[in-house]
Amino acid sequence: MNPRNDLNFSGGPGVLPESVLLEAQQAVVAVPEVGLSVLGISHRSDWFAAVLSELETNIRALLGLSGEVHVLFLQGGATQQFSMVPMTLLRGKARGKACQADYLHTGYWSGKALPEARREGDIRVVWSGESNGFRRLPSDSELSFSPDAPYLHYVSNETVEGLQFHRVLGRDDVPRVCDMSSDFLSRPCEAEKFSLIYAHAQKNIGPAGVTIVVLRDKLLEGAPSELPGFLDYRIHAQAHSNYNTPPVFAIYVVLLVTRWLINDIGGLTRMAQINRDKAELLYGLLDRSEGFYRGRVEPQDRSTMNAAFNLSSPELEKRFLAEALAAGFSGLSGHRSIGGVRASMYDGLTLQAVEALVGFMEDFQRRLSSR
Ligand SMILES: *Cc1c(COP(=O)(O)O)cnc(C)c1O
Repeated sequence: MNPRNDLNFSGGPGVLPESVLLEAQQAVVAVPEVGLSVLGISHRSDWFAAVLSELETNIRALLGLSGEVHVLFLQGGATQQFSMVPMTLLRGKARGKACQADYLHTGYWSGKALPEARREGDIRVVWSGESNGFRRLPSDSELSFSPDAPYLHYVSNETVEGLQFHRVLGRDDVPRVCDMSSDFLSRPCEAEKFSLIYAHAQKNIGPAGVTIVVLRDKLLEGAPSELPGFLDYRIHAQAHSNYNTPPVFAIYVVLLVTRWLINDIGGLTRMAQINRDKAELLYGLLDRSEGFYRGRVEPQDRSTMNAAFNLSSPELEKRFLAEALAAGFSGLSGHRSIGGVRASMYDGLTLQAVEALVGFMEDFQRRLSSR
């Protein structure tokens, strides 16, 4: 086993750009402009205030955000957002049709959000892909959103199954809430159409420990007053994401990734093109393989971030994963809930890495089919 950093196809925590890793390495010893380790700089320092401010500016620039939006850096991962969202927007509302929040159940992660919402109030599952094994996403004609819903919740990219929406869902008169944990900053996302976007950092844009929340000020009108401070978006907004000790290191690395996206990549339109090129390369191979590699999901709903596929038997998959690892490719095991193979191609994964994987897969197929 000799996994290579540049060939890390892990579903999460995911690969980061090499230049970012080198800067992070240097910062662990000493942040150049401060002379201290990033692990030992006060979260009340001027330096960290500047880090928070630049990160917010970068995210606003990358997403083209304007107006009354807060950009928050919270803890608790996306899982805490599964609760914070309904606590804020559903708690205290009457049960029954007129107050049900609309939820989509399109895969493993959107499924995890449902029981948390039900603790706080009434929800309606607009569409579920459970009976078909989450192999496709709904078309517009299958979706009928309620005009009375307090909000709509969905997941833009189902990390486990490899399903991604390539359009914005919902109605303009109902707040859209979206978990973008595994495709945030991978493409332009029409952020102005969402009332709340959340994304933890550790799939696509940094280490675990920080969750980015972009939310419209207006959404907080009418939020319950008795929420615990730590779980109240208003408290974090007032404190400029420095309410208690934030994860300074994780936030700093996300800043480095946003600088890389802006300066080295050239923005999200360019990033999206690179991500599409990578995905086309891999899916192209699946489609050419005559069933040797079988994509899990319907082609129109394929994710550019996570490609989940199977080989003809679990034994062959095991052999594939072992040989891939021996060749330096890591993180290719499918999620523990469904098995199989999953190649995650986050922003930090290079086109060369996908080319190398495709080369390996072609060679594997050739060797195993000619026996
Ligand atoms: C991984 C993942 C989560 C869970 O995130 P945590 O930060 O571990 O709580 C939630 N949603 C999506 C889309 C994910 O990919």
